[in-house]
Amino acid sequence: MDIEQRIDEILKKLTVEQKCALLHGVSSMSFGKIEAAGIPEIFCSDGPQGVRLENGTTTTSLPCGMALAATWNVQTAEKYAGVIARESLANNIHISLGPGVNLMRTPLCGRNFEYYGEDPVLTGKIAGGYVRGCQKLGVGATPKHMALNNQEICRTIGNSICPLKTLRELYLEAFEIIIKEASPWLIMSSYNRVNGEFASECRYILQDFAKNECGFDGVIVSDWGGVHSAKESLRAGTDLEMGGSTSNWMGFPLLNELYYLKISENELTDHVRRVIRLILRISDANGKVENPEKLKKEHIDISRQIACESAVLLKNRDRILPLDLKKFRNILICGPSADFKHNIGPCEMIGGSGSCHPDHEVTLRESVLRKWGEKCRISYAPAIRFADVQFFPEKWISSCCCNYSDVPGGKPFFSEMRNDTIFSWRKGEVAADEQNRDFISSPFYFDITVKFTVPETQTLNLVLRRTRGVSCHDVTLNGSSVLSEDASKIIPFEAYPEHEYTLKISGYRIVNNGGALNILCHDQSAAEKMLQQALALAAESDCVIFAGGSNHNFDREALGRGDVYADIPSLEMCDNQGDFLRKLTQVNENVIVALINGSVLNVEPWIDNAAAVVEFWYPGQECGDVISEILAGESVPMGRLPFTWGRKLTDYACHANGNYPGVRGENDPHVHYDEGIFIGYRHFDRSKIEPRFPFGYGLGYSSTECRLENVETAGSITAKNISVKVSGSVKNTGPFPGCEVIQLYLSYPADCPDERPNKVLRNFAKVTVKPGETGKFNMELKWRDFAFIDNEKLLLTAFPGEYKLLLGRNAAEIFEEIPLVLA
Ligand code: BGC
Repeated sequence: MDIEQRIDEILKKLTVEQKCALLHGVSSMSFGKIEAAGIPEIFCSDGPQGVRLENGTTTTSLPCGMALAATWNVQTAEKYAGVIARESLANNIHISLGPGVNLMRTPLCGRNFEYYGEDPVLTGKIAGGYVRGCQKLGVGATPKHMALNNQEICRTIGNSICPLKTLRELYLEAFEIIIKEASPWLIMSSYNRVNGEFASECRYILQDFAKNECGFDGVIVSDWGGVHSAKESLRAGTDLEMGGSTSNWMGFPLLNELYYLKISENELTDHVRRVIRLILRISDANGKVENPEKLKKEHIDISRQIACESAVLLKNRDRILPLDLKKFRNILICGPSADFKHNIGPCEMIGGSGSCHPDHEVTLRESVLRKWGEKCRISYAPAIRFADVQFFPEKWISSCCCNYSDVPGGKPFFSEMRNDTIFSWRKGEVAADEQNRDFISSPFYFDITVKFTVPETQTLNLVLRRTRGVSCHDVTLNGSSVLSEDASKIIPFEAYPEHEYTLKISGYRIVNNGGALNILCHDQSAAEKMLQQALALAAESDCVIFAGGSNHNFDREALGRGDVYADIPSLEMCDNQGDFLRKLTQVNENVIVALINGSVLNVEPWIDNAAAVVEFWYPGQECGDVISEILAGESVPMGRLPFTWGRKLTDYACHANGNYPGVRGENDPHVHYDEGIFIGYRHFDRSKIEPRFPFGYGLGYSSTECRLENVETAGSITAKNISVKVSGSVKNTGPFPGCEVIQLYLSYPADCPDERPNKVLRNFAKVTVKPGETGKFNMELKWRDFAFIDNEKLLLTAFPGEYKLLLGRNAAEIFEEIPLVLA
């Protein structure tokens, strides 16, 4: 029996209640589980940068999404997803909630680091690789969030007001490519509203575009808690509601609609069919479960290799890189990321769904000491510490007590005393007594009391850093309320040595396991001394390696109710890193900057004086080894920018036209997409803005010669059977291994009845070559690649005329223009 017949058989056996039950989750991360009908419980897990488990189990932390996009390598994306799929299966997970594919409309979107940049073709192809890599091992993938969740500010309530042409041509193209090239088993809709309707109720996107036009036959799952109606969501094309329980829309409310005949049982059929199809796909694939311990070494290697491949060499004055360790014998390591773990500790705690828990993370300081310590003199001076991820100094704490109870302010069933303020509620991390050992597996309320004194008068910033599922609803300092709503805000206050302070925090944890709360505290006074010390050491060093950029306090998913204030605040490097780098590059001419971040940063104050700059993104758990490996030339940087790196915020269209973040607040927040399809390089080209680094840019340690060899055209646009094949070669003319990402852009006929961008990326090929070697590339364009969305009919259309194909190393360096008259 084929799969559709098997679905028919199952459908016949289900009652209407059971059908309904298949359309919503049975726990926060599972659905299915109709035991009477033999339907198993199916588990999902975030994605997209490693398997995120809330039960304390550690998994491999991969480089972030933007890093994956920077490899411009579809095979690498498959390999990346293979790690996720194998670790999912090892943990009884069947669905990965990734890849994240929202386009970078603004460099300030908090989730840019999870996404794949500004271009739909690059995004679609990389995400397609992810989907194939997962699904070929039997784990479903979930491209998300469809569509127009391009900022985190007001993400759950905001209305993205966008012309349908722009939506379909630009933002939905990434999903179209993924559906056509990789057949995902699921797609996640977004939280926001689209032209007034919640994305989960937007028939145009879910039913008309994905299911009817592209032939998507999988499940459209809502973002967690993103459904706001039963009938409307169902009729628009939502198949599965997640993030809630039976009381949510697809639970009792949907049943009621059925009982009162507002919808017919028939209307459920297609949705239930899709959910069953997904479950059968998973069980038919019967993904092989391997021993996670055996996979560990291999996965760590893959994480490291992909991070190396994603590194983008932005500047390399006089080829200072790779570093000659015989010449530079006295090296200073500094910067806030030089000895900082982005995936373990307070930053991981910020707890966006894209975080995962590795069992270790290698820092740059550690790696350099281990690998170069015997060859040269390494000194370390932090210079700057990320201000808002500093722990509360233990020596200040006189007592820290936490009472756990079943009801708010209720009689505690367990009390815990600590020396620190780092609460982590994963299994095994609370020293509970015999009787209470299992309380960690259910939701609870907590009341924390911290008593402390400070050694000298100082201005302190207290921060309550929580993971998802942990809320603090009442916070008092010496009896006065400092925070009454649920938010992770900074609480500044002046502290004097003669007082004892009492900080009280009440809240709850709703997840069944995991979750954490850190009370952090930053003391401003030590900061200036650290800067001076680093500058003095820098002046005496042969070269300085600065590791910094951003952290997940900025590059993060917006959490909590309303999500009103949660994107990256500006392009400035936090904690005055820009100013420090300006001074640092004045005292030492050999400053090498290793950037760790997920989006654009303002590099203008210092980049002209820096000797070299490498963008490492968030490289995952092997971070330090990745940086030292690239800097020493054991691996070569092979990444290219997935976005245009502007010089200032107003270089970007939605900042230039004042349409970011739009009107915020609880009352009809909205944002207009007035720039249309002109985001990223399309906008920079049209407005003739010279970026700091163009889209697709990246240097290598070697040099290459790129050559077009052949162009072959067959068929015609009018007959919709056009095929243009372009081939050529890349020769490595330098002493190091190298690569080129050949980017194929299309430029439209001048008489096109629509304003077209100067050029759009239509395909790319990565060619990796050893010294002296020549590699080949072959790319093909078909009718769809010449088509765009007609303004009036909103359908794909393509015109005969005089086109140009542009072959480039990046969007600004075109090495071949091929005129093409197409009939
Ligand atoms: C995020 C999704 C994520 C889901 C489940 C949502 O808040 O937007 O990306 O997959 O939670 O954790």
